[in-house]
Amino acid sequence: MTLYVGVALVTAAVLLFILQPVVKGLHASLERDEDELTETEARKRVALLALRDVEYDFLAGKLDEEDYRSLKGQLTAEALAALEADEAARGQGGRPADGDIEAEIVRIRAGLKTGFVCAGCGFTNEEGSRFCSSCGHALADQAVG
Ligand SMILES: [Zn+2]
Repeated sequence: MTLYVGVALVTAAVLLFILQPVVKGLHASLERDEDELTETEARKRVALLALRDVEYDFLAGKLDEEDYRSLKGQLTAEALAALEADEAARGQGGRPADGDIEAEIVRIRAGLKTGFVCAGCGFTNEEGSRFCSSCGHALADQAVG
């Protein structure tokens, strides 16, 4: 039981650690108004950057696989919600503002549309994948090409 509580605390600490600079960055950019980000754009950016940080931390060995999957699943859901909110807010005439982030968005959206985002763990798989490369879950059977 003590171990379980310890794991939960570490997970919470890792989450806070990851989100803290991102949240600070959000406030900073909103205050400075440097890119004239809308609230939904800022939210989308924060979610996507957090998602990317989780991937980096996992690759760097700072997160174990269980934490990684859990965080990634949560952040993916958040990023997608933010994407939809942003899209709704700007209507159909929106233009990409940040190539890096937009590329990430395109990747996630393409994954979602085609079923390459794993329903089991939230991992975004390469286009054409039939099984999740993170957990092995079978992906939606979509025609490829
Ligand atoms: Zn998976």
